[in-house]
Amino acid sequence: MVERDYAAFIKSLMPEGHRNRDNQRPVSIWREKDRLRGFPEDTAVVIFRTRGCSWYRFSSCSMCGYFNDTSPTVTEEDLMRQVDYLANSLGGVSVLKVFTSGSFLDPMEVPPPVRQYFVDTVAAKLDKLLVESRTEYIREENLREIISSGVPTRVAIGLESSSDEVIRRSVNKGSSFRKFVDAALRARSLGLEVRTYLLLKPPMMDEESAVQDCIKSVQDAAPYSNDVSVNPMNIQRNTFVEFLYSRGLYRPPRLWSVARVLLSTRKSGTQVISYPTAGNKERGAHNDEDSRELLSLIYRCSLEQDFSALERYMERCPEKYWREIRMEASQLEQVDFRLLSSRVARSSVWL
Ligand code: SF4
Repeated sequence: MVERDYAAFIKSLMPEGHRNRDNQRPVSIWREKDRLRGFPEDTAVVIFRTRGCSWYRFSSCSMCGYFNDTSPTVTEEDLMRQVDYLANSLGGVSVLKVFTSGSFLDPMEVPPPVRQYFVDTVAAKLDKLLVESRTEYIREENLREIISSGVPTRVAIGLESSSDEVIRRSVNKGSSFRKFVDAALRARSLGLEVRTYLLLKPPMMDEESAVQDCIKSVQDAAPYSNDVSVNPMNIQRNTFVEFLYSRGLYRPPRLWSVARVLLSTRKSGTQVISYPTAGNKERGAHNDEDSRELLSLIYRCSLEQDFSALERYMERCPEKYWREIRMEASQLEQVDFRLLSSRVARSSVWL
């Protein structure tokens, strides 16, 4: 399920050296709203600094720059100090999402004694937990500590697309839809919930094809998911997507497209949400015009699972949007003409 040359090129873009890190502090901790218990509420988010995703040893997903936050020298002891730091930072928030620049369930990345320490230190404060994992680590032996904690847990899986072609040739995930289904069924048989991540507009797809792929992927993933998070592309450093973007060969999706996916899939039998990272910014989902109102509607409707206001707002979707995505679909490459022309203008010498 891997295109070897493509995977090798993506690997070549990843930096070799690592900066000095404080291995005993998480990369980041913040609060945001989510609806893991079926209603909007404050949710704490932590990114633990780890050695990173096992996939980085071979390559990386084409959009993933989380390797920029990893440290190869992190020890078990360091990870336990990061857990202490988290425990002291939770305040009164009892819903927690744990990210790791990889998989919380990967025993090489988060060894079992650290998971046990996490449960012993933090579980009593939690009413709900979300952890992320690649499919291959969603196994009973890696979930033992979490299950025994008794904290209701949702496992988030990055499917990105239900098309194996897209997974292999565009995302370079090193996985497949079948692996996702098996992992999601395994998680559910162990009493866990499943959140599925889908990527809106992977590289080398025009925007209309990406919208259609995402809509189909929501429908395919819905029977296995408690909710589906539609993640529009954001451009991360040292990635293949940044390589294209910096040459004017990739444009992140429009917020109009995010809204279309939500509206087309809200009755798919699962909850569909989208919280666009870097929304309304050049490196994230954005329209040509400033679209703060649309972005905040996408957030609000996702949190409340009531899309009627978004549906009304879509009546304002301009003809220009449809023209642009039709034009993009007719191109061999996804050239961002606006960006390309401004860069050419900046770099030209007029005599
Ligand atoms: S599986 Fe996740 S962490 Fe690993 S390279 Fe892909 S997106 Fe990044």
